[in-house]
Amino acid sequence: MENQSILPKLKSSLVNNIVDALAFCTDSHVFVYEILKDTVYVSESALEKFFLPGTQFSNALKQILPFLQEEDKVKFLQIADIISVNNNFSSKGIYNIFDSDGLPCKIEISAKTITDNEQSYVVGTFQTVKENLIPTEMQAEHDFQIAHDKNHSLNGFLLAVSFLTFTQHNTALSVENELHEMLASACKTQETETTKVYELNQNAFLFMNLSEGNANSIRQIYNDLRQEVQSIELATNYQYLFTLAAGGIVLFKETSDMSSLSQKLMFALHAAQEQKKNTLYLFSNQNYVHYTHKQALENSLRLSLKDNAQDFKLFFQPIVDAKKAIQENHEVDILGAEALLRYQNPKGEILGANDIIPVLEKSGLIIPVGRWILLNAFQQCKAWNTLYPNFSISVNVSHIQLANTNLVNEVQLALAKTGVNPKNVILELTESGIIDSYELQSYIEELTRLGLQVDIDDFGTGFSNLRYIQNLHVDTLKLDYSFIHKAVIGNGRDLKIIEYVTKMAHDLGISVCMEGIESYADVEKLKYIEPDRFQGFLFGKPLPADRFEREHFR
Ligand code: C2E
Ligand code: MG
Ligand code: MG
Repeated sequence: MENQSILPKLKSSLVNNIVDALAFCTDSHVFVYEILKDTVYVSESALEKFFLPGTQFSNALKQILPFLQEEDKVKFLQIADIISVNNNFSSKGIYNIFDSDGLPCKIEISAKTITDNEQSYVVGTFQTVKENLIPTEMQAEHDFQIAHDKNHSLNGFLLAVSFLTFTQHNTALSVENELHEMLASACKTQETETTKVYELNQNAFLFMNLSEGNANSIRQIYNDLRQEVQSIELATNYQYLFTLAAGGIVLFKETSDMSSLSQKLMFALHAAQEQKKNTLYLFSNQNYVHYTHKQALENSLRLSLKDNAQDFKLFFQPIVDAKKAIQENHEVDILGAEALLRYQNPKGEILGANDIIPVLEKSGLIIPVGRWILLNAFQQCKAWNTLYPNFSISVNVSHIQLANTNLVNEVQLALAKTGVNPKNVILELTESGIIDSYELQSYIEELTRLGLQVDIDDFGTGFSNLRYIQNLHVDTLKLDYSFIHKAVIGNGRDLKIIEYVTKMAHDLGISVCMEGIESYADVEKLKYIEPDRFQGFLFGKPLPADRFEREHFR
């Protein structure tokens, strides 16, 4: 009887144990084939998937043959023949077979012969091959390398696509896998003789053609994919909706290697993803250069921050009493200064806030840099207060700091560290759409409880709206340069708006600071509106602390 057959060296129960143990270590099915006895030992997992006589059976070749599809029977027998005469054989191959339901499927078998004391065994694993199994990025690199080795200047294109899923609920892993397979099949529909599809991750795929095609080929694939995705959305009864972001590069006599092309491709894909809607972004070198400059800047900002923020500087711009400036003798009475961030790059150039703040905000670096700004601005205020006890410093706070840090704590900490009088500290906040006015109001209340003033900056640009003045109990509205500039050069409409905004603010007990005053002609135009404060190049440009002292504290 089969179960009692004793192997010369290995007992069948031991083989069974080994097969069981190995099966535990892998997702594949494990087998041992004893050539002389034509007996197979197979892990139990295989029985669920394939109609096999048991975990151990003899007459193995005869028993297995019916499961093979016709075209692969000969190949299988040939390999079996080779094995029987070759003691040192290894093989990996894909076979078309029928599973336990009689359905055709593919399995991949990996096997190696081992010989011990003239007794030979074939040991290996087998697993079902998914029909739409897509090669990975590694395979793409490999294929690229082969093409590149053959022909150093490549034509064609690369297209990376990513599918963002909108779901109201947590998606189970099985559903995610199912969606992945649907997306993979959608991508597969675009495969041609020369365009190959690879998988970058669960939701992203790469199309690579290294011989032909242009921007239109990329657009065609993208549009076709969108159609395919719409069918998937329909098939899931709109439970799953996708955004399709794609980045493409046309290759024309391209000589770069895969890693630099990959970087460009990922830049293009991210540029598309940033749009947060269906977007195809075609690579542009000009934008890439801009992006790499931004990356380099971000890196040097990061390094400088690590190095005690030594290349960051605060400049100070005077804020003056508007009531005095509009008088005939244009008396300049400096009430305080706004601290404005600057950065000295490795070339020694001073970069302005508009160059660095967006990079700091996008990278999140504004959080630690913001901490440094609070501390240094408060310190400067404290120093100047020894001679000018009422001089105030206005500090800009980014909406990223508001949304991602406990600003009240940070401010408390900086107050404690510097010992500055909180009544001389003004925080300039802006609305951004990230936090709503209720949240902003609760911040303002907590900050004013600490004894600080809160101003609303950039009024008149982007997000600001009149609800602000109604709901927020702030000290001052700062009317933005662009708003003021339009009013002083415009046809009177903008001036009217500024007039009414100022009037409304005053009625609610809020004062108004007009920014960007560049000439006495501006002052003349605006004086009838009776603002409270002015800030602008006319009264002084932003300067480092020592120069500010020399210019303004005479
Ligand atoms: P802001 O807070 O509205 O600052 C006023 C900006 O207007 C400053 O630009 C200032 O140099 C500029 N300005 C002042 N007077 C005039 C003028 O008469 N004409 C013109 N054309 N411009 C004038 P800056 O320093 O480049 O800052 C730009 C923006 O960057 C600031 O606008 C603020 O939103 C942001 N920022 C600056 N420093 C910081 C900071 O330390 N932290 C944060 N979070 N943001 C900052
Ligand atoms: Mg400001
Ligand atoms: Mg402003």
